Amino acid sequence: AKASGRNAMCFFDPDMQEVVNVRVVLESDLRRGLEKKEFLLHYQPQVDGNGRVTGAEALVRWQHSRRGLLPPAEFIPHAEESGLIYPLGHWVLETACSQLSAWSARPETARLNMAINVSPRQFRHPDFVDQVLSALDHTGADPQKLKLELTENLLVHNVEDIIAKMATLKTRGVGFALDDFGTGYSSLYYLKRLPLGWLKIDQSFIRELLTDPHDATIVRAILVLAKSMGLSVIAEGVETNAQKSFLAQHGCDAYQGYLFSRPLTFEQFEVFYSRKDTA
Ligand code: C2E
Ligand code: CA
Ligand code: CA
Ligand code: CA
Repeated sequence: AKASGRNAMCFFDPDMQEVVNVRVVLESDLRRGLEKKEFLLHYQPQVDGNGRVTGAEALVRWQHSRRGLLPPAEFIPHAEESGLIYPLGHWVLETACSQLSAWSARPETARLNMAINVSPRQFRHPDFVDQVLSALDHTGADPQKLKLELTENLLVHNVEDIIAKMATLKTRGVGFALDDFGTGYSSLYYLKRLPLGWLKIDQSFIRELLTDPHDATIVRAILVLAKSMGLSVIAEGVETNAQKSFLAQHGCDAYQGYLFSRPLTFEQFEVFYSRKDTA
């Protein structure tokens, strides 16, 4: 109580007041953006070892009325903090599932999968499982083609609850990838217990893969670990052929990065995919 009494003094600190104001402005701006439907998804191709496009990761952007096109780093942290990640995350889920369903409906794109990022706070919401099931249900998207990307930060508390939710979705066919792998806190104990299908090696290990022996060692270890646990591995941030070859030599299953394509609008994605497909 003493400590909080001392902290209360901060409200009279002009710098702190500034921080509070910025937060309030951002929050109402986010709310306005949601109402005005200013968010959109870009799709970054994911490819297998033969260079075939197997699907895409949905990445959210904000077409801000004044500030232009904003990347997620500019607003996801505020959305998480304010709780606006619930409506935003729900919109992402609905939009990505209807895109997935539209792909499945056409023979040319029928085999494409969709990966969606889920914030820890969003996943922990009591309605999350129902939201996923209802999005699949009313868009008609195939659960087998949906992969949810979760981060290790999710595993800091209530792991049993998280495992139970994942298990429920898994029985319906939904798959999971552990995103940003190697940057968080997950213990190997939990890694074994989670119903995961994929590990996604973070781009921070890929960037200097060919020049930093530590990164090379870490990446090889992740690939060995994943194989021994029966998990598939996708590498993100792959920018060069040399990185791709190194990863392929050590058994990586799939790739994503500028070497193949930047994130694309859905129109651009269809053009990219139809060219690849017929190439
Ligand atoms: P992430 O899940 O690790 O996504 C990969 C990020 O790396 C994306 O940035 C992507 O554009 C970028 N990237 C892809 N290939 C390359 C490459 O070859 N080189 C480099 N340097 N970068 C590459 P983006 O789109 O800015 O997204 C940043 C983060 O925002 C994502 O990181 C993810 O954590 C979060 N995010 C994106 N969309 C959503 C969403 O719908 N919901 C939630 N909760 N988070 C999202
Ligand atoms: Ca991701
Ligand atoms: Ca990452
Ligand atoms: Ca991430």
